[in-house]
Amino acid sequence: MIKTRFTELVGVEHPIVQGGMQWVGRAELVAAVANAGALGLITALTQPTPEDLTKEIARCRDLTDKPFGVNLTILPTIKPPPYAEYRQAIIEAGIKVVETAGNKPQEHVTEFKKHGIKILHKCTSVRHALSAERMGADAISIDGFECAGHPGEDDTPGLILIPAAADKVKIPMIASGGFGDGRGLVAALALGAEGINMGTRFMCTRESPIHQLVKEKIVANDERETELIFRTMRNTSRVARNAISTKVVAMEKEGAKFEDVRELVAGARGKMVYASGDADEGIWSAGQVQGLIHDIPTCAELVSRIMREAEAIIRSRLEGMMSGASRQAAE
Ligand code: NAD
Repeated sequence: MIKTRFTELVGVEHPIVQGGMQWVGRAELVAAVANAGALGLITALTQPTPEDLTKEIARCRDLTDKPFGVNLTILPTIKPPPYAEYRQAIIEAGIKVVETAGNKPQEHVTEFKKHGIKILHKCTSVRHALSAERMGADAISIDGFECAGHPGEDDTPGLILIPAAADKVKIPMIASGGFGDGRGLVAALALGAEGINMGTRFMCTRESPIHQLVKEKIVANDERETELIFRTMRNTSRVARNAISTKVVAMEKEGAKFEDVRELVAGARGKMVYASGDADEGIWSAGQVQGLIHDIPTCAELVSRIMREAEAIIRSRLEGMMSGASRQAAE
């Protein structure tokens, strides 16, 4: 057991979070993560309407008695969603933990907090972490440049970002971006975080509701198989490298505006990748951690393996080094 301020705050057994993932954070995955003793998050905007989100939360409750939360991401969209209505659905469903991410979350943080909901705010810079702390967030998920999805525009990798944030942020902080195994968990704890957030690693589990071929693609890909799109639009997104991401990057180099690439990058098209298993059908998110993913375990196997590995590293490898024993003897 590794108990931290974060596990105490959200009431889970293990310091591991399955972060918000568009089209992936659905009831079957979230419930499997919760049943494994970690914190799962339903992605609100994956549901077409706030009413569908209410139903998805109920479906998740049918699959687990353990706590789980909801992610609400506020970033540029082709069709702006009714955020306040999604927020109301989350409040009315009695959710106790919300992961907010993206721009200007104050209004949402204020409303959620009025209802006693704990806020885990995901951000990609120390200054945004401090601003979320001032806004009333209960915990920070600090997201390094390695991550899938939106790494921000500062390009600071976790090895620097996590301790830089830990030096200044007072509320509990978990580390995000590039995590997939027990080594990462121990490293995050050493750098000052109190847990880890994983997206791509949970995408590649048995219960993840995406096509088997996409999971196999993640296993086959190494750490170089990502690409940064929307750099020129200051909405950078790290996605799995494919025919479309390469085309979008080339078009951006030629001066393309969002309107020129909109058809190629639409989320509705990316959703088709997960349904059909054709990895070139649209844009889909994946992080550099692909290079550390070699199998498709159940969520229970994955979480217990990470905890086992982390405890072995702390008790044997690190303790062994402290006592001067050789690495072989320690193992
Ligand atoms: P979408 O179809 O509206 O847009 C597709 C992509 O284009 C998204 O990455 C979006 O940020 C970007 N985009 C849209 N308008 C833009 C503009 N004017 N300038 C620059 N970039 C623009 O998005 P979707 O796939 O339906 O996703 C809905 C929202 O959820 C988006 O904001 C997306 O970024 C966000 N998202 C959330 C998660 C999560 O973990 N919750 C993961 C990935 C994306």
